[in-house]
Amino acid sequence: MTRTLRPILTCGMAKGNTNSVRRHVGHCPTCGNTAPQRIVYSHRHGITWYDDQGRGARGGPDIYSFLCICETCDAPVFYQGVDPNEDGSAWPPLAYPAVSEFGSEVPRNVRKIYDEAVKCKSHSPMAYALLIRKALEAICDDRGIEKAAGKKSDLYHRLQVLLSRGDVPPLLAGMTDALREFGNIAAHEDPNAITVPMTWPVHELFITIIEYIYIAPARLAELRQALKLDRPLKKL
Ligand SMILES: [Zn+2]
Repeated sequence: MTRTLRPILTCGMAKGNTNSVRRHVGHCPTCGNTAPQRIVYSHRHGITWYDDQGRGARGGPDIYSFLCICETCDAPVFYQGVDPNEDGSAWPPLAYPAVSEFGSEVPRNVRKIYDEAVKCKSHSPMAYALLIRKALEAICDDRGIEKAAGKKSDLYHRLQVLLSRGDVPPLLAGMTDALREFGNIAAHEDPNAITVPMTWPVHELFITIIEYIYIAPARLAELRQALKLDRPLKKL
């Protein structure tokens, strides 16, 4: 039996569209435009949901999937998530191209800057570089690393403090330094030297740093809570 997707498809449709082609207005990570996307396939399916005791059951909200084609660049965009009618979100989140959307474990300001950076990654790598540098500053702010007087107020010295405190392990220290240099080129040297392919590894490195500082500790805390572990962590 095919169930109707009518409730969700009335949301986010391109205004003024009178033909039978269904559209969604959304942000395309490939070209960076927020523009109409043609819905070429939609699907809805049930999944197993789990209660606090870990018992699985059917009957919870369905999962909605939409395959769209960006009408600006012709690239596919795939959305998937829990029935948006359940939480009033109107449209499921982006699933492809993969864009890391951070949750509340990452400070709001860091998330905000990162989201802006992602939007301009494909069409303005220089702006992306500047925003990643700004996001590193925001991480230092969040970790309470004040700007010291004089020369020591720069990002290099603030990241050194982050390293010396153990917030970032030595391997990641090299990563943060590379990201800082990337931002410096855009800010002080030759913005045209920043290319789109350069943003790809930078993006991966930035996510790795965020995962180490914020996401992994949050996941560990969740697991410890689920296992009812209230004793301190053992040192390896
Ligand atoms: Zn596009």
